[in-house]
Amino acid sequence: MTTGIHEDVLPQLEDITVNPDRPLIITDADEVLFAFMQGMELFLEENDLFFDWASFALHGNIRKKSDQSPLASEKIPSLLDRFFAEYAHRLPAVEGAAEHLKKLSETAQIVVLSNVPPKYASLRKEGLVKSGMDFPLIANIGAKGHVVNYLTKNLKKPSFFIDDIPTNHGSVRKHAQHVHRLHYIADARLAKLLGPAEHSTARLDSWPELHDHIQDIIDKE
Ligand SMILES: [Mg+2]
Repeated sequence: MTTGIHEDVLPQLEDITVNPDRPLIITDADEVLFAFMQGMELFLEENDLFFDWASFALHGNIRKKSDQSPLASEKIPSLLDRFFAEYAHRLPAVEGAAEHLKKLSETAQIVVLSNVPPKYASLRKEGLVKSGMDFPLIANIGAKGHVVNYLTKNLKKPSFFIDDIPTNHGSVRKHAQHVHRLHYIADARLAKLLGPAEHSTARLDSWPELHDHIQDIIDKE
């Protein structure tokens, strides 16, 4: 991994054509395009678990209905894996996401950069197509900064990164500081638990706000 990009991710990047003369929007999927927590709550219910909304994290907040005790950290990766297997293709879309991306796609290129496990990339793609967001998908592994730099390094127009997770903004700031970093958490209950990400350039709270912020920057270029 000499480039900082996982060996399973690089071939996906090589498949994507980026036009250096068009703005580029790189968007996360869960909690940005898809209502991840809505699906997660249903899934937890089906598994006699619940989310207790104490903080912005899965760890410590997934509890057993039987005795309220938190699910052990080591059980979370396999739970998440099962969640994606069962829900990646049928998570509800976030309100306004498809409509505003469609408008933005008249002036910008759009790429979905999701840390969905690669074996579920085709389910994620199915969900995107069903929801009217048939944009190129990268099933990323690990930090996002190097990937965002790879996609934007030759761009002559503004580029944007949208994500709910603060550490992803930190990674993009470190490796692709020229990119506008927009912090957005779709679920209002989750958004309340977290302030603006330290390394983001703006915190926005809806797709109409994201649209206007991005379009303003593009128009001022
Ligand atoms: Mg996300």
